[in-house]
Amino acid sequence: MRLTNRAKHLEKKPMTLVEKMYLPAIAQGLGITIKHFFRKKATIQYPEQKRELSPIFRGLHVLKRDEEGKERCTACGLCALACPAEAISMEAAERKKGEEHLYREEKYAAVYEINMLRCIFCGLCEEACPKAAIFLQPDVMAPPFYERSEVIYGKDRLVEKMEQRANTGIEKYVK
Ligand code: SF4
Ligand code: SF4
Repeated sequence: MRLTNRAKHLEKKPMTLVEKMYLPAIAQGLGITIKHFFRKKATIQYPEQKRELSPIFRGLHVLKRDEEGKERCTACGLCALACPAEAISMEAAERKKGEEHLYREEKYAAVYEINMLRCIFCGLCEEACPKAAIFLQPDVMAPPFYERSEVIYGKDRLVEKMEQRANTGIEKYVK
């Protein structure tokens, strides 16, 4: 029974003497190798070399501070809810007296973690955040890693450093 009319019956011709020697095929293969040897390399030596990024590139996350250096995140959980990869987890805590200079709202994220092995850099967490607290940086790639334990990013690596705060507001990230 024939399943399709597009099937072709191929006849296997006997090999010629030259073909049996394999030398022309080897020379042809070497020719292709030599041709590619002198072409521009498609690979780069990352992370020492970096490619130019697209203007819509979404890179490593940052948890922003406000103009006074307070953490913007209020641990509402909307980013975790929006995340299709379930990469975000957090633990909320209540701001205590005397911590007003650290956290913007009465509730803050005592623990905030992103699993970079799960993250697909879709940017949905950024879109879901009502406090303009989380952004995917357009010019910073997630660095390479060698241990699985290195890919869980906690607040120590996500919260914007104070000196960074001095240079960039959220204007850089708002499109
Ligand atoms: S960028 Fe996408 S996948 Fe990554 S943490 Fe945000 S919502 Fe989740
Ligand atoms: S980053 Fe934004 S959305 Fe996520 S918990 Fe903090 S305030 Fe809520």
